[in-house]
Amino acid sequence: MTIAKGRALVTGGAGFLGSHLCERLLSDGYSVICVDNYYSSTKENIAHLLDNPRFEVIRHDVTFPLYIEVDEIYHLACPASPIHYQRDPVQTTKTAVHGSINMLGLAKRTGAKILLTSTSEIYGDPLVHPQTEDYWGNVNPIGPRACYDEGKRAAETLFFDYHRQHNLKIKVVRLFNTYGPRMHPNDGRVVSNFVVSALTGKPITIYGEGRQTRSFCYVDDLINGLIAMMNSADEVTGPINLGNPGEFTIAELAAEVIKQTGVNPGIEYLPLPPDDPTRRQPDITRAKQTLGWEPTIELESGLAKTIEYFRGVLTN
Ligand code: UDP
Repeated sequence: MTIAKGRALVTGGAGFLGSHLCERLLSDGYSVICVDNYYSSTKENIAHLLDNPRFEVIRHDVTFPLYIEVDEIYHLACPASPIHYQRDPVQTTKTAVHGSINMLGLAKRTGAKILLTSTSEIYGDPLVHPQTEDYWGNVNPIGPRACYDEGKRAAETLFFDYHRQHNLKIKVVRLFNTYGPRMHPNDGRVVSNFVVSALTGKPITIYGEGRQTRSFCYVDDLINGLIAMMNSADEVTGPINLGNPGEFTIAELAAEVIKQTGVNPGIEYLPLPPDDPTRRQPDITRAKQTLGWEPTIELESGLAKTIEYFRGVLTN
């Protein structure tokens, strides 16, 4: 039997990452409060946790204040895939900014430690490669991705100002592309799109020529990084990059999906969306040195687990 630990709040707890984090915190002995408004998440993601007496769910939008008692706050809430965050861009900025102000206010009142899942998007279309945390980024402030990029940049600013001004214990991590079971099949993300296309026999949609790169981190590795960051010494504020440095072109990813699914439905080339970053790869030296963290799951094996998950979802 696990010994009861503190009370952890996970905002966005019914999302792809949030649900894995809730599951992990429960198995580590925490009492977990999951807050979500289901804008880009589903109740199915957390259905298997509802019987646990240490798990509680609140339907709540973080752009409104929240008054509860907690010891640790994992602030994940925000639509994160381009199609979701661009659907209602004003709401995306509000979620990033007002949501952070409200959760920082909660941390201030309760004395809780608070972790922000920021993003590699704050580097924009990076002029430095791989991206280190001291790179300030190359973001178009008025483009279609700005609601998310600038929203998260403002959230980082708020976290560091609350830290300097009010002494809050903050932890800021910048997440690079993450994939795995419970990604939304219609999320629009490249991994889910390619796998779902192959499994349903529809052409794989490559935007542009597929020469742009991303570095894909399997969800279990990422969750280990979030836990390591929350449990790091109080002086460790970040920002710290969390991601897998293995860099692939989108065309290479398509080839791997075709190989592993054993289905080649053909490729359809579509226009590259505006401001789509050309290259992205995390420098994780800081995470290794400060947290002793690095990913262990290669794309090949992570993709195999993801394909297995989507096979299950699509046949049920
Ligand atoms: N992409 C693609 N086909 C798709 C979905 C995405 O070629 O069906 C490309 C997209 O243009 C981008 C990369 O894959 O260059 C990653 O896109 P995703 O939406 O997964 O994440 P992000 O752009 O936020 O890294």
